[in-house]
Amino acid sequence: MKKILEKYKGFIIDLDGVVYLDKKPLPYSKRFISKLLKLNKDYVFLTNDSSLSPDEYSRLLSSENIKCKKDQVINPINNFINLIKIGKIENKNIMVFSSTKLKNYLIKSNINILEKYEDYKKAESIIVSGNINFSYKDLMYASLCVQNGAKLFATSTDNSYPTKMGNVPATGSIIAAILKTYNTKVINLGKPSKSIFSLALKKLGTNKSETITLGDNLVTDIQGAKRNGLDSALILTGKTNKRVIKNFIFKPNYIYKNLKI
Ligand SMILES: [Mg+2]
Repeated sequence: MKKILEKYKGFIIDLDGVVYLDKKPLPYSKRFISKLLKLNKDYVFLTNDSSLSPDEYSRLLSSENIKCKKDQVINPINNFINLIKIGKIENKNIMVFSSTKLKNYLIKSNINILEKYEDYKKAESIIVSGNINFSYKDLMYASLCVQNGAKLFATSTDNSYPTKMGNVPATGSIIAAILKTYNTKVINLGKPSKSIFSLALKKLGTNKSETITLGDNLVTDIQGAKRNGLDSALILTGKTNKRVIKNFIFKPNYIYKNLKI
């Protein structure tokens, strides 16, 4: 761990399975972040979890004494808003299948949302984001939207995420169900997409060669980092155990049991 603290200036840090599990801090994460601050390193948290808004993540981390400003959390929803801002997505007739919190955050961010399910034929883009209240009705209308030509944006394509009980279905599993009804292109707003790593780098302001990604997921974090020209460290407190790495083509530059310095 000391080696990466010496070598890199910018840190892109995953949350679930690295900093916390079930939103409870993992041992050593608080000390790790304090150390980054002490050493004057730049860091952002990059998560595929869209169950909370970036403001809420920042509050949650701060309440656990993990220092985090509002703009230090990047999730697929920031990415979506940023893509609208830079003109890559039209801010028109967007239907949102997400938690209410997230929907409200998008409304607050001036995203033009179609509120009624019955307007599914008007939808030009839809966002699908797994959440505990996701219903059959959501699944049905999301499928109807894409059948009628709406572009399909997913907050992630992760099939599962780690909890203390085990791995549970994530957005990717819901997207798979939509695709079983109607096959269409999926635009991933989360890791490992290029757009979200670019946003993280832009926020950090560091060069690729001086930046490292820390994560527990071989696909979203490790493969994502590599595809975007970044070094990576696999942290074994979440989804991945050492046995799995052997069969994976994209190898992390470093492997650590946890964030212990
Ligand atoms: Mg993770």
